[in-house]
Order: sequence, then structure tokens, then C-alpha cells
Amino acid sequence: MATLLKNISTVVTFNNHDEILSNTDILLEENQISSIGKNLKAPTGSKIIDCTNLIALPGFVNTHHHLYQTLFRGIQEVQEKPLFPWLIGLYEFWKHLTPEAIYYGAMVGFSELLRTGCTTTMDHHYVFPEGKPGTLIDEQIKAASEIGIRFHATRGSMSLGKSVGGLPPDSVVQKEEVILEDSERLINTYHDNRRFSMQKIALAPCSPFSVTKELMTETRKLARKKEVMLHTHLAETLDEEKFCLEKFGRRPVELMADLGWTGPDVWFAHVIHINKEEMKMLDGAGVAHCPSSNMKLSSGICPTSELLDAGVKLSIAVDGSASNDGSNMWEEVRRAYLLNHLKYGSNGLNAYQVLRMATRGGAEVLNRNDIGILQEGMAADIVLFDLNDIAYAGSHDPLVSLVTCGNTSLVKMTLVNGKVVVKDGELLTIDTDKMREKAHKTATGLVEYQRQHG
Ligand SMILES: [Zn+2]
Repeated sequence: MATLLKNISTVVTFNNHDEILSNTDILLEENQISSIGKNLKAPTGSKIIDCTNLIALPGFVNTHHHLYQTLFRGIQEVQEKPLFPWLIGLYEFWKHLTPEAIYYGAMVGFSELLRTGCTTTMDHHYVFPEGKPGTLIDEQIKAASEIGIRFHATRGSMSLGKSVGGLPPDSVVQKEEVILEDSERLINTYHDNRRFSMQKIALAPCSPFSVTKELMTETRKLARKKEVMLHTHLAETLDEEKFCLEKFGRRPVELMADLGWTGPDVWFAHVIHINKEEMKMLDGAGVAHCPSSNMKLSSGICPTSELLDAGVKLSIAVDGSASNDGSNMWEEVRRAYLLNHLKYGSNGLNAYQVLRMATRGGAEVLNRNDIGILQEGMAADIVLFDLNDIAYAGSHDPLVSLVTCGNTSLVKMTLVNGKVVVKDGELLTIDTDKMREKAHKTATGLVEYQRQHG
């Protein structure tokens, strides 16, 4: 069935001409945009939605997350710690992860993402506890399909346990042949490379300090053979830089270049501690900028304007919920804007540029040419914002209002692949109360178990 979004006050297209249209209709047929213009005729039987006073944007694209962490927020033992001690403390809880916890953690994260305007998300899952079923990413894919979000799952990995000088306990690292075998299984089972694909797989060793160089190399070879993307954390903290210099005699970006881990089929999370020379070495690789996480873990400030000036593909991401602690994509956009201005002052990015980063920028980082732009032939992934809340009264520019005014109640509707998934703040695809109850019970069980049994 076709859907006509009628008389949208402002349509921010992010097309090649940077067009912002007023009082415009968008016609959706099946899962794509079939036309954009004034006074469009809807085919007989179409659903017509009045969008007067609403702003339409392509759905946000979240390029870095760890959904399971939604179940480990507010753990007192690690609050206020920087990255390495924070990770060491949390691994003790994460070693109890079950497939059920992964499913509920994903549902919690997806819910907040959708309710804050995100239509495509990735996840980076790298904790596979010893002795537990390995089908954790399968659970995330099931949850994504049930709730109706476009999903890029990444098969993460850790192979360097504490006993061989790594950071994580041995109980959450895996043998490298097991990692590679499961990576191939996931690609063969789930990776869909067709236009408007709802599920893709990428390969994502956790970081240069939790796997061996051999695994980085073998993962790269497998990804390129199977034509899937590569992802990892990079240049996040000065501790990591020190670790790489001591262990490998190379700075993090240099190490990635040595390993052949650069190019347009790669994207990295964070990329804070990078110099101009290294920006060139990325060679087309994209970046997921995670402002809240970087602030909470006092990792540093990503050089967003310099990365854009250097032509690096740049996107915005919420990162894992234990370091944010939300999955609120709209708020992340606001923080990206604020943090950019803290660093660059009046030379910083404007509201349009930051919104572009969160939409088309995300699509570019994930190498997708079917999302991130509102134009004919693109996916019907649309978020409609309502600025009629009293919080926006007296604001004179809708785009500036969207980015800078602090109110999270503004998503009127989120459409993914042509379907309305969120309406008036409510998810239409799941029973939110029931899901919240089950997720919270699962989370409490895991945390209490660790506190009692270790
Ligand atoms: Zn992360």
C-alpha cells in the first residue's frame, strides 16, 4: 500500500543540491520514496498522513553501539572511571551474558534509537563468554527484525586474554579459529547486500589491544573475500596510543595501515587522537563520532572539523549504553554540535552540517547509497519532528531548533522501510511495557549473580 505524507512544512533532503523544501508531499510506495513534490496525487487506497507543521529528515544512522550494555548501566563499581579500568570492571559482569540477555539488551537499545529518530543502526558485539551458546548476534538479528529497524550487525571478537597480556579476562576471549568460523557462518546466513537491505554483517575485532595482529589480518582477508565491511575502535584514548607504541612500536592509525586495515570498506569508532598525516592514511575509511561516550570516559574530543576538512567520511553514534548511558540519537546530534563548538568556537559546524553527519554521513560511512537522503528511489526511512512543543516557542529557525533546543519529546513519527514504527512517541511493533519488565529482570539477575558469586 502507498502512503502519502501530505503537506510537510519542511523537508530537509540532504540531496546533492542541499535542497530544503517547504510545504511538500512525499509519496511512499512499498519500501521506497516514489516521489517528492507539491500537491502529489495518491494512488487509490493510499494511506494519507497530514504532516502540517512537521519537519521531515532522513532517519538517523547510528554507526557505533554495543546494545548489550543497555543492561549494565549505572553500575556503581565502574562509574566515573576512564576507559581501561572501566572495561576491566565491566568484563566481570559481561562474562555472564546469555543469549536471552543479548535479545533484551538489543530490544532496549533499538526502542530508544527508534523513538529518537534513528532508522538504521549497527551493533558491535565482541563479548562471547566461555561455555555459553555462541549464537548471540543471531539474537540481535531476531530482535531487529521483530522491532523493524534496519540493522548492520558486526561480528566482534577478543582473542588476547589477561594471561597473555591482554585486557579482558580469559573467560570472555575466544580462540581465533572459532572467531573466524563464526564470522563466516554469520555472513553466509544473514548478510544481504541487495538495495534496501534490512540486515548486513561486518567483521569487527574489538580493538588493537584485545586481539592479535594475526587475527586482524585474517579478519581483513575474510571480509574482503566475502565483500563485507570492517570495523573496530581506534585512537580512542591516550592509554591505547601508549599501548600500541609500547607493544607494536606504532601509533594506532599507523598500525591499522600496516595491517591493510584502511580504505573505503573500513570504519572506525572514535578516532580522537589522530594527526593530519594519519587522516590521509585512513584512505577513505569512515569515522563514527561518539560525543557522549568520549565525554563520560574523558577520552578526548574528536577533531570533527579537521576530519571533514580532510575529506574523511564522518558520522555520529551513541556508542555502548554503559558509556553514554542512553541510546538517544537525537541527543547525540545535539552533543556533537556542542562539543564541536567547544573545540572550534565560531568556526564550528552549523546545525545543517551536524544533521547531515547524522543522516547522509552515516549512510556514507556504511557505504550505503539507498538511505540517508530524501529523494525518489531512496529507502522510505523518514523521521518527522514536531516543533510545536512549548519548549520550541520563540525559536526562529527549525534546523537550529532541532539541534540546539534541549527537548527529547519531538519525534512525532519514525518510518523504516515504508512502515510507521513509532507514532507519537510510542513503538507500534512491540509491547514496550512487557519488554521493559523482562529486560530489567534479566539485567538485575545478571548483575546480582556477579555481585554474589563473582
Ligand atoms: Zn565502542
